[in-house]
Amino acid sequence: MIKYEDTYRHKGLRKKLIDLLREKGITDEEVLTAMNNIPRHFFLDSAFDEIAYEDRSFPISEGQTISHPYTVAYQTQLLQIKPYDKILEIGTGSIYQATVLAEMGAKIFTIERHKLLFEKTKEFIFKTKYPNLKFFYGDGFEGLPTYAPFDKVIITAAAPVIPPKLIEQLKIGGKMVIPVDEGEQQRMLRITKNEDGSISEEAFEQFSFVPMLTGKNG
Ligand code: SAH
Repeated sequence: MIKYEDTYRHKGLRKKLIDLLREKGITDEEVLTAMNNIPRHFFLDSAFDEIAYEDRSFPISEGQTISHPYTVAYQTQLLQIKPYDKILEIGTGSIYQATVLAEMGAKIFTIERHKLLFEKTKEFIFKTKYPNLKFFYGDGFEGLPTYAPFDKVIITAAAPVIPPKLIEQLKIGGKMVIPVDEGEQQRMLRITKNEDGSISEEAFEQFSFVPMLTGKNG
C-alpha cells in the first residue's frame, strides 16, 4: 500500500516541520519527539501526501479539518502530559491529535459527533500499536460520565462556552485545554480545577477552529 509508506523523504520533511515548530516556540521535547514519530501523511488523503509536512490545516471529510501541526503541538504542550494520564478528547476528526497523545503514553478517550468520521476510526491503521486509544461516537458537550474523572480534557473544536459537564468530569488538579469562541478566532484557555471545585483560567494565543456543535450527526 503506497499510501502507508513512510519514506526517507517523508521523514526528512517531518524533521524540518519539527524544527519549524521549535522555531515557532514549542519547547516540550516530548511533544516534538512524539510528532516526529508519527507519519502525519497517513492521516490525510493521499493527494496531500507531499504537503502533509507544511504547517497547514487540511480538509478531511465531512467539512472537517485536521488541525495545523503548530496547533496540535501547542495544545499538547499546554496539557503537560504525563505517562498514564487519562485524557478525554473532544473532536476525533482525523485521529492525528489523539495519536500524538497516545504516542506520549497517555490513555485517550476520544469522542466524535460525526457518524462517518467515527466509522472511519474502525479502520485506524495504528489500532494494535495504540491499545491506549479508545473511540466513542457521541456529543462532546456530554463528555463520557462512565469513564470520568479525567486528568486532562482537550477540546479540538471552537467551544462557544466552557462546557459545564466537562468541568464536572475533570479531576481535582486536572487541566482542560480549550479554544473558546471570540467570533472568527478563539482564545486558547487552560483551565485548572481547584480543590474546592472552582476553576482558574490562563489565557494564551488565538486560533481558528471549526465549531463545536451540539448533538450527534448521522
Ligand atoms: N482532533 C482533530 C481535529 C478535528 S476538527 C484532528 O486531529 O484531526 C474538530 C472535530 O470536532 C471535527 O471532526 C468535528 O466533527 C468534531 N466535533 C465538533 N463538535 C463536536 C462535539 N460536540 N462532539 C464531538 N465532536 C465534535
